[in-house]
Amino acid sequence: MEPKGEPQGRNGGEPEREGPDFLAGGGALGQLIAAHDWPSTPLGPLSSWPGHLRTTVGLLLRSPVPIVTLWGEDGIMIYNDAYSVFAGGRHPRLLGSKVREGWPEVADFNDNVMKVGLAGGTLAYRDQELTLHRHGRPEQVWMNLDYSPIPGVDGRPAGVIAIVVETTGKVRAEGELRVTAEALATLNAELGQRVEERTRERDRMWRLSTDIMLVAGFDARIEAVNPAWTALLGWGETELLGQDFMAFIHPDDSAATLAEVGSLSSGRTTLRFENRYRRKDGTYRWLSWTAVPDKRFIHAVGRDIQAEKEAAETLRRTEEALRQSQKMEAVGQLTGGIAHDFNNLLTGITGSLELLRTRLAQGRLADLDRYIATAHGAAGRAAALTHRLLAFARRQTLDPRPTNVNRLISGMEELIRRTVGPAVAVEVVGTAGLWPVLVDPNQLESALLNLCINARDAMPDGGRITVETANRWMDEHMARERDLPPGQYLSLCVTDTGTGMTPEVIERAFDPFFTTKPLGQGTGLGLSMIYGFVRQSGGQIRIYSEIGQGTTVCLYLPRHHGAEDAAESAAALAAAPRAERGETVLIVDDEPTVRMLVTEVLQELGYTALEAGDGTAGLRALRSDARIDLLVTDVGLPGGMNGRQLADAARVTRPGLRVLFITGYAENAVLGNGHLEPGMHVLTKPFAMEALAGRIRDLIEGGA
Ligand code: ADP
Ligand code: MG
Repeated sequence: MEPKGEPQGRNGGEPEREGPDFLAGGGALGQLIAAHDWPSTPLGPLSSWPGHLRTTVGLLLRSPVPIVTLWGEDGIMIYNDAYSVFAGGRHPRLLGSKVREGWPEVADFNDNVMKVGLAGGTLAYRDQELTLHRHGRPEQVWMNLDYSPIPGVDGRPAGVIAIVVETTGKVRAEGELRVTAEALATLNAELGQRVEERTRERDRMWRLSTDIMLVAGFDARIEAVNPAWTALLGWGETELLGQDFMAFIHPDDSAATLAEVGSLSSGRTTLRFENRYRRKDGTYRWLSWTAVPDKRFIHAVGRDIQAEKEAAETLRRTEEALRQSQKMEAVGQLTGGIAHDFNNLLTGITGSLELLRTRLAQGRLADLDRYIATAHGAAGRAAALTHRLLAFARRQTLDPRPTNVNRLISGMEELIRRTVGPAVAVEVVGTAGLWPVLVDPNQLESALLNLCINARDAMPDGGRITVETANRWMDEHMARERDLPPGQYLSLCVTDTGTGMTPEVIERAFDPFFTTKPLGQGTGLGLSMIYGFVRQSGGQIRIYSEIGQGTTVCLYLPRHHGAEDAAESAAALAAAPRAERGETVLIVDDEPTVRMLVTEVLQELGYTALEAGDGTAGLRALRSDARIDLLVTDVGLPGGMNGRQLADAARVTRPGLRVLFITGYAENAVLGNGHLEPGMHVLTKPFAMEALAGRIRDLIEGGA
């Protein structure tokens, strides 16, 4: 159909430059249409275009939506700016061309559009896929296409109007979205599978673990157990679930386990906690636990450490056995040494006695003194030996006095010089203002002499001995080094310029009977005795020595806070004088020979002696109104009352009664560890009869 007829409108037959009104404001296409050679198309010159054609073109030129109109049987194309963008390289050739020629690649599609449209039908496509050549190459595109007929003058369709909206971008995006979604779905599926696998692995671990696993409440109720429980402890799952796990724990471990559960319930984890679990057969097994709490449960893993524990126990026993055998060796050495020395001394005593008997039987009475002296000397040495042993055992009965050590040393200086001989120089350096100490002065003298003899022995070619005293304040560190409580000490050091000692000798020097000296010269009891005495006095002894340089041995003794006892000095034992008339001594001892000997000595001295065999008899005498100037009593007594209790009871009725305890050993505690009340004294067995006589006389005179 070709619109023909007279040109209409204001412009009439005027040649058109700007184009007719309906094209004005129609954008770039408005101008192109105005300039197009329409007379050579079926539509004819613009001026001849009928009203519906003009109206339709005017309308589409003003639309922002891509619109193309296809006129007549051939579908002559007129479109707007938006469509020209869509047409790409086809524009501007498409303008005024037949649709079949304009879009040859989709000619069939457009044939159908034309057929339907010109017959008055409409077509609508959503995301229609087409391949177009818009930019010199095939291009896959998607479009929403809406076709409807344009009614002509007679009402019959004169053309088709197409609204073209390209949806390629949207379709592509949707496609990508779909791909992404699919990938996501695949990924999800894989993830699910992996989670499932992991769960399976976790379950496998739970099933196959040789460690026992436990989930339990903070109330110790068992919620879950793994099969290792059965393998390791013999319990089946049903025997455990719902039970209190505390019921399976060794009674000795239950307090610690409860504490650990408490700690878990406050949110702390357990890193290594050991306890014993009861097996079904009644035996126990050591387990080592790690555990973590969450809001409701404890999750715990327990490892069997029974074998480790047993191995550690075996090692501990081995060590113990070794220590025990070392101890036995030391005891063997000690007893062997004592037996050896005692046999020698006994030989001296029994031999002398035998000879004495023989001479007496033969009536040869001259020269008997010699044998008596030999036996007496051997017995004396035996007594000294037991004394040293007791000193080492820290069981000697000490008689501690507040002592001025400088004064004690100066009293000994002459004796030391004579003992070490002229080849050894002796120097004494006494610190002024030296603190007093509380020690048994006789023992300290003996210790000092022993140290000087050791120093002399280490200097066979002569040398120098320095005896030095000092006040020492020991802080925490120094005290710990010397195994003493911190505080104030006095030090008494003896230094020589002798051979020195190897570390091995230093290590063993305090062992009883340890000596490096030839047989007959060393007893190995000197340092051991000093050690025992010093330790018993609350002090310490240390050796500092260098081979070839010399040795320093230091005694540390705790400072005594209090006045020193000026009266205490070695009492010179003069010939025992005879007693004043009527002076009476009560002797209490369960050993008749001791009583007899003491009584004899007392009578020799002219004292009246009263005897009692136990505490009760002694007390009876003390409660009587008999004159008693001195009580001499053994400490260990039969009859439920010891010597100390007897003395205390006696002082109730006889306040200030003078007392002399005679004691064998280890009765320090009974005697108040040296802290005796005034007027109470100690004499250690065995004692020489002269010593006893001297003490008794001193005590009676001192109280007079
Ligand atoms: P003894 O003197 O009878 O051998 P001790 O117990 O007094 O016994 O000493 C033990 C050992 O310690 C000595 O045999 C000696 O080896 C060593 N010793 C002690 N004092 C010194 C010292 N001043 N110099 C070198 N060695 C010493
Ligand atoms: Mg010695």
